[in-house]
Amino acid sequence: MSATVPTQTKPVCGARRPGWDQGPAVGINRIPCVLADGHEGEHRNAFHQTWADAPTAPTYEEIANLVADRITTDMPALDFDRAVFVTLVATGLRDVDQDALAATERGTR
Ligand SMILES: [Zn+2]
Repeated sequence: MSATVPTQTKPVCGARRPGWDQGPAVGINRIPCVLADGHEGEHRNAFHQTWADAPTAPTYEEIANLVADRITTDMPALDFDRAVFVTLVATGLRDVDQDALAATERGTR
């Protein structure tokens, strides 16, 4: 009786745990996801360990909208143009981020 080697016919996800995605797939935390490519939900490796994707950073517009929500809730009497507010806050956050990045690149921070 000969051993049967399973063949992989469908592409697999191949995602690796956040923070363990660099370097060779050696060690249990670096074993990639074996579920079908494009699957939903958590990833799962061949040892049935599961993990979720790392959360992504919010955009400046999302942050500005959260601030606008808070203002609307906490100060309902305040009448402000939400679209203008969101644009101004998002632009300000982006400018601050660029200034901080430039300072880091100059080594002054
Ligand atoms: Zn996966």
